[in-house]
Amino acid sequence: MSPAASESWGIVGGGVLGMTLALRLAQQGKKVTLLESAPHVGGLASAWSLGDVVWDRHYHVTLLSDTVLRALLRELDLEREIQWVQTRTGFYTDGKLYSMSNAIEFLRFPPLGLLSKARLAGTILYASRIRDWKYLEQIPVAEWLERCSGKKTVAKIWLPLLRAKLGENYKITSAAFIWTTIARMYAARRTGLKKEMFGYVPGGYARILERFYRMLVQENVDVRVGQPTARIEAADEGGIRVTLAQGGEARFDQVVVTTAAPIAAQLCPSLSAEEKARLTGIQYQGILCVSVLLKKPLAGYYVTNITDSWVPFTAVIEMSALVDRRHFGGNSLVYLPKYLTPDDATFSISDEEIQRKFLDALFRMYPHLSAEDVLAFRISRVRYVLALPTLGYSDRLPSMTTSIPGLHIVNSAHIVNGTLNVNETVQLAERALPQLLAPAGQPGVVV
Ligand SMILES: Cc1cc2nc3c(=O)[nH]c(=O)nc-3n(C[C@H](O)[C@H](O)[C@H](O)COP(=O)(O)OP(=O)(O)OC[C@H]3O[C@@H](n4cnc5c(N)ncnc54)[C@H](O)[C@@H]3O)c2cc1C
Repeated sequence: MSPAASESWGIVGGGVLGMTLALRLAQQGKKVTLLESAPHVGGLASAWSLGDVVWDRHYHVTLLSDTVLRALLRELDLEREIQWVQTRTGFYTDGKLYSMSNAIEFLRFPPLGLLSKARLAGTILYASRIRDWKYLEQIPVAEWLERCSGKKTVAKIWLPLLRAKLGENYKITSAAFIWTTIARMYAARRTGLKKEMFGYVPGGYARILERFYRMLVQENVDVRVGQPTARIEAADEGGIRVTLAQGGEARFDQVVVTTAAPIAAQLCPSLSAEEKARLTGIQYQGILCVSVLLKKPLAGYYVTNITDSWVPFTAVIEMSALVDRRHFGGNSLVYLPKYLTPDDATFSISDEEIQRKFLDALFRMYPHLSAEDVLAFRISRVRYVLALPTLGYSDRLPSMTTSIPGLHIVNSAHIVNGTLNVNETVQLAERALPQLLAPAGQPGVVV
């Protein structure tokens, strides 16, 4: 084996990104150790128990257009099991629930006049055709939408939707955000008669991650869970030293940190001031994501967008409108996400209060439900989920290769012209690989 082939690599963060990097490096003959702080791999995509049901902690679907993820699932021998289902979309506005699943329903949608509807449809079509996206990074998203859809549609539809996902941070977010969101939404409807097709693997991400974990072990990756990293720096004897929070340390020839950018900055104190400023300058949205197991179905829409500001969550995701209810013991699985800035006080609200507020709103929106229909309720809180595409974002991104030889930082903030999803995450790992493997001294390139 050549010296480069036996090189030792440490990957910090065992989410899908870290797992994919670990797999590809091991397949190149590297000696790879994957360090994950949680007791299991998978990060944001991991599963948990909700009553008797084991399913994703955060709602996940696969799109027909997710070709890179589907290729990985093929390697895991799971792609052929994907269930493709035609789903419907709901819209909750002015205290009423509307179906917005096809063009006819859109034309009937009462809250907007015909002209506003035409401009809204025109905006979506226009955005879906944009290929040269870079200039969108210079325009605030609300300004761009107003130009395309007009003031009325922005006030009635876009602004409530932007506020729901971004809070007041919509003001610093560029038009690239809505472009990537529309592009993904449009990709879901690209096939057939513009019907929305979503997919899932029976068993959900628990099954995918279990298979992925086994493949890593087969490729001789040393997967260490329950091992939070505390500090990463150059080792005196060369290479990179990783100090573990629970004591002990390890030395690697190369280390890739895949955690969110502000965490990476904390973990690597000897980065230059400029590198730290770039990492901490990335603005994130976090999430409080509730899972509810119900005896009854809600309304049969996979996603229901909400524009009414009294509702304490951003959307309603009825997973059991997509996934066969037999996977949930004949019950319905619903997610109630609330996107928040990392310092939002809502993160500190007690479980009891969140449960009371969220269920009160859910029962008001769906009067056929009551407390006795609720079988289980669980809350996930994550402060760093989504790096916001702020104005001029890609010009301020840190390089993947740092000033410390052998230390690399690659994370979902490097997804510059796509939304956060597993397909983009796997693609990022594949894209980063040649750069990570480039000979030392080759300058880092901003993706
Ligand atoms: C609510 C929600 C809905 C989503 N819906 C979809 C969807 O429908 N379809 C889709 O394709 N994608 C979806 N995604 C996105 C998908 O989950 C992400 O693209 C993917 O999981 C990101 O993986 P990652 O490895 O980059 O990040 P993460 O999963 O955040 O991985 C980072 C890992 O680093 C670990 N870590 C942090 N600090 C340390 C430390 N000090 N030491 C060691 N380890 C550490 C964390 O525990 C974590 O496991 C959704 C995400 C969310 C939150």
